[in-house]
Amino acid sequence: MRTLAIALMLATLAACTPKAESPKPEPPKPEPPKVEAPKPAEPAEPAARVKNPLGLSDEEWRKKLSPEEYQVCRQQGTERPGTGKLLHYKGSGTFVCVACDNPLFEPKAKFESGTGWPSFYQPLSKTAVSEKGDFSHGMSRIEVNCAKCGSHLGHVFEDGPQPTGLRYCMNSVSMKIKEPEEKK
Ligand SMILES: [Zn+2]
Repeated sequence: MRTLAIALMLATLAACTPKAESPKPEPPKPEPPKVEAPKPAEPAEPAARVKNPLGLSDEEWRKKLSPEEYQVCRQQGTERPGTGKLLHYKGSGTFVCVACDNPLFEPKAKFESGTGWPSFYQPLSKTAVSEKGDFSHGMSRIEVNCAKCGSHLGHVFEDGPQPTGLRYCMNSVSMKIKEPEEKK
């Protein structure tokens, strides 16, 4: 208590009479030299580059998706190659959007591309996905999004197998499997 009081008093004194009490008097500050002020950091990745036709808020998206899914679907992230849970899927279920269940790809259009990402030569229908130019990371690519909720799925390249010659290079994280209905 006492020490604090003294410290406070000293601080007050120092503030009032800077020259007298200060052990190391600050040299008078000349005009600051005209140094190029460091530019403020670039604003963080624009949050709303991914289409959002469902109109969910960022908070709602975060609640709906796991952190990993959010990073890929809503921030155009890319999963590490070779790690995707659907990379070697060979079942008969439909690949649907992890965020909104929109059917995206059929297993028959899947092929082993050797890239480490699940790859398809065509989407389930022309209206299942939407495509737009993506010029990020110094590359010119076509981004593929879920047509229903806008979530980022991956990219499409023109080096795929026949019959389309296309390679839809997808993130496993963006998709899940909907098993075919049980026959009654
Ligand atoms: Zn979707």
